[in-house]
Amino acid sequence: MAPFPNIPRHALGPIALASLLVILAWLFTMGRPPPPRFVPSTAVQPLPAGAERPLPDGVPTPTPVPLTGHYGTRVEGLHIVVADGLLSEQGQASLVADLDQALQYVVRRFGSGPKGQINTYVGLEPACGLHGIAYTEVRTVQVFTCRELPVGRAVNILAHEYVHQLCHDRYGDLHLKADLVLVEGVATWGAGTYWLGGAPDFRTFVRPWLEKGEDIPLHESYVGLPVSDMNKLYYQWASFVEFLIDTYGREQFDRLYITGQNYPASSDYLGVYGKRFDELEVDWKAWVLGR
Ligand SMILES: [Zn+2]
Repeated sequence: MAPFPNIPRHALGPIALASLLVILAWLFTMGRPPPPRFVPSTAVQPLPAGAERPLPDGVPTPTPVPLTGHYGTRVEGLHIVVADGLLSEQGQASLVADLDQALQYVVRRFGSGPKGQINTYVGLEPACGLHGIAYTEVRTVQVFTCRELPVGRAVNILAHEYVHQLCHDRYGDLHLKADLVLVEGVATWGAGTYWLGGAPDFRTFVRPWLEKGEDIPLHESYVGLPVSDMNKLYYQWASFVEFLIDTYGREQFDRLYITGQNYPASSDYLGVYGKRFDELEVDWKAWVLGR
């Protein structure tokens, strides 16, 4: 057993004190403290029916979660703490192995590794509202789950959070003001199989929505949208990132990533690809639909 590492108070404040809405407001207003990156609570399909009760937007985590628990890792580069009472000893051991595997997977898929240890906290959410968050400046990712949910779903979320850390490590502090479409798109894309639910790629995953005209414009912010739409946007953005990398290559994508201003579609698409965001969106749709 070991105590959770000291995390600067500003990193813990949002969970205990602020609502999701307030944190999202930081994203689009002051930009300070550095925006944590959320995964919507319904992320990762297919959703086990009735297995979760997502919190409505704007509702804070119902009870403060003490960041204490069992030190549960022998894996280099990962410091994993699991809330007391969440998992059996055997469950913890297999979680550590699963998270190690998830990190190795996303590093391969993303194409570069972490620049230091990643602190991973698996917390207990009494209301079973599965959700994750990344504080990349302090190399800390967290997921909140409960005993009733399969632990694999927490691993799926953390795969996404790990990619946020890899982005900070690859792009530096410019990551903190990157275009939201690319930030969440690349984290979801990088989580690959952990988010695809058996689909071969994100293009295949989102195609039915586009075929039925049920897609959401890519430039929309998820602020104020229902959680299900936020979820859908993450997948669409992942497929958009997949499209950009497939079409123009990774080097160009890296150039694009560091030109953002936080809000959706704020990167310099015209400067990097010679096309405006809305033109690329049209191309993306045609690519998804195979036209
Ligand atoms: Zn995210």
